Amino acid sequence: MAFKSTRDLTKNVGVEDLIMLSEVTESSLHENLKNRYKEGLIYTSIGPVLISMNPYKQLGIYGNDQINLYKGKHEFEIPPHIYSIADKAYRALRSEGENQCIIISGESGAGKTEASKYIMQYIASITGSSAEVERVKKTILESNPLLEAFGNAKTLRNNNSSRFGKYMEIQFNLAGDPEGGKITNYLLEKSRVINQTQGERNFHIFYQLLKGSTEEEKKTYNLLSPDQYLYLTRTGGNGCFNADGIDDQIGFKQTKNAMKVVGIDEPLQKELFATLSAILLLGNLSFNKSTSGNGSVISDKKLANTIASLMGVDSNVLESALVSRQISTGQGARISTYSVPQSVEQAMYARDAFAKATYSKLFDFIVRKINQSIEVKTIGKVIGVLDIYGFEIFENNSFEQFCINYVNETLQQIFIDLTLKTEQEEYVQEGITWIPVQYINNKPCVDLIEKKPIGILSLLDEECLFPEGNDQTMIDKLNKHFSNHTHYSKVERQKNSQFIINHYAGKVFYNIDGFLDKNRDTLFNDLVSLATSSSCSLLVEIFKYVAPIEVDIEQEKKNRDKFSKNGFANNAAKTFIPTDKKRPITAGFQFKNQVASLLKSLYSCSPHYVRCIKPNSNMRALEWDQSKCAEQVTYLGLFENLLVRRAGYCYRQTFTKFMRRYYMIGKSTWPKWSGDAENGTKLLMSELTQNINIKEEIQYGKTKIFIRNPQPLFFLEDKRNQ
Ligand code: ATP
Ligand code: MG
Repeated sequence: MAFKSTRDLTKNVGVEDLIMLSEVTESSLHENLKNRYKEGLIYTSIGPVLISMNPYKQLGIYGNDQINLYKGKHEFEIPPHIYSIADKAYRALRSEGENQCIIISGESGAGKTEASKYIMQYIASITGSSAEVERVKKTILESNPLLEAFGNAKTLRNNNSSRFGKYMEIQFNLAGDPEGGKITNYLLEKSRVINQTQGERNFHIFYQLLKGSTEEEKKTYNLLSPDQYLYLTRTGGNGCFNADGIDDQIGFKQTKNAMKVVGIDEPLQKELFATLSAILLLGNLSFNKSTSGNGSVISDKKLANTIASLMGVDSNVLESALVSRQISTGQGARISTYSVPQSVEQAMYARDAFAKATYSKLFDFIVRKINQSIEVKTIGKVIGVLDIYGFEIFENNSFEQFCINYVNETLQQIFIDLTLKTEQEEYVQEGITWIPVQYINNKPCVDLIEKKPIGILSLLDEECLFPEGNDQTMIDKLNKHFSNHTHYSKVERQKNSQFIINHYAGKVFYNIDGFLDKNRDTLFNDLVSLATSSSCSLLVEIFKYVAPIEVDIEQEKKNRDKFSKNGFANNAAKTFIPTDKKRPITAGFQFKNQVASLLKSLYSCSPHYVRCIKPNSNMRALEWDQSKCAEQVTYLGLFENLLVRRAGYCYRQTFTKFMRRYYMIGKSTWPKWSGDAENGTKLLMSELTQNINIKEEIQYGKTKIFIRNPQPLFFLEDKRNQ
């Protein structure tokens, strides 16, 4: 049999499934992972959860022969692999007709994006090949290099780090072939456009453009060399322009090719590149104190002209949008507008805000273009793949870590909810008696962050509305409201700028500095009107585009109740926008709605989990850093996962499949069992357990056998091997 050969090829080190560990301790869990990793066995499972350890080298386990090996196989027949998860999701989609999702988590550099690419590759190669299906598959695969060019960057942790979260859904037709899809992107790290930590780079696309352009393109877009841009060299060092393992020139060709595939034609590409060049040049724009009054002026008019011409705007309008701000007072007919001069610092702030906004809107535009090219009007079953930043605890944790950890907290909640829920449901369905397991309930922590009207995010929004609100008033407010909350702690210092959240993965100190500014995410109207006055259709489009407001689920439910009580149709609530329109939409509000909508999608799917581990911080093959790994095992909740799994029945299998695997061990079931599988299973087990007292360990459900501890399984496996 085909699978035999892989098992024989791979040295079988430790256990393939951690529920088979004879000793359930954290150290035996670590030991098992480590021993397997050292032998290049990067995949291990905990029941249905796949653990994937980054090998930092090509293992040769992703070829067509491997794909064929995993196609249509059940996980117990074959060693754990990312293809096994992909196949399981696909099989379930087809046989159960239910939406599936694969949730990939892990810290930066752990291998999430690579895993998601292998999943896509697998699905593409096991499905059909009509012209339209081929086109959809090609677009889905090509969307990756394009998104990576604009959304990935070299960081200290990963040379190709995704600086955004992504949920990619592939929709299948009735024949089981991809017919379309949709990408949702989360929280791009746009601050990277204007500044990077030493040793890190800006987004790949900038280097691709600068290094990959022809002489003619360089002239057309007024490109300089990388070291001439402030936005690429503000790192404190001399700037970092290269990344190991990344060829920007080849990258540029791939990006252009991918653009063509998703329908970004050449004229549009030109506008895109001109805009990118303008963003870079904006960083070089400096301001002087104006000689008259307290305002400022652009120091280098020629540079301003170049930027204006690349952006298709009037140079004078560009300058006034940066160095002054229109303020309106009054109401209705009595409204009056006047211009307030901006200081040099304020003008620089506006310049940076403009560069960041333009870039992140470009990124959203690219996602929209990809989506348009794979959009389907019909409703069908989907497999969603979530590749999102894992839990982060840094030296300095700011608003970004707060958002990232918030989404991880909610994902952990789903994980517990769904794994335990499905487990419990199965016991009920099969008529199995069992004692429910206690587990950490992290709802209080999620509530602390998102509850209305008093959660951290709502308080933050409220504080952003007060003109005199600042980071200090914010932290005072948090301390006042949450000092008794079990998941919140105040930091007692003279000048306190930190607060602590007790997450499921551990305590995190957040630094409040910049929270209000990042949440407000202000872009003054002057700059928006500047962009929409452009002769470049791309700029107009990206600044005019208003994302449909995702409806707040909690609110939606309340509204729906209200509406249905009043006799309105249920879906009338769908068009009801629950936000108070007077409030500007903050970054936190937007993120919270995105998270709510993601949760809604995930809850409608059967989930599969891939937990990625980065074995060392040096990006080196075969190196195992024990304390780093232990930390990740904690953040991923793996040990708890194992305990939960072990507290129930570690093994369950339908009678039919059980017999298929073990018929040869029984005296009366060998060499062939042609009777009923349930009877066969019971007969076989009673024969085997005659002299051993493991009867307590086994329960027979309606369609499945349940075994509590792994020992009987070891015994069965041993017998089978004999
Ligand atoms: P981030 O959160 O920063 O985006 P990530 O979890 O997405 O990180 P990846 O970009 O997927 O991490 O992986 C980092 C690098 O590790 C890859 O560029 C690749 O070199 C290596 N790598 C990851 N998975 C594998 C694998 N299965 N086989 C070989 N190399 C791998
Ligand atoms: Mg990634």
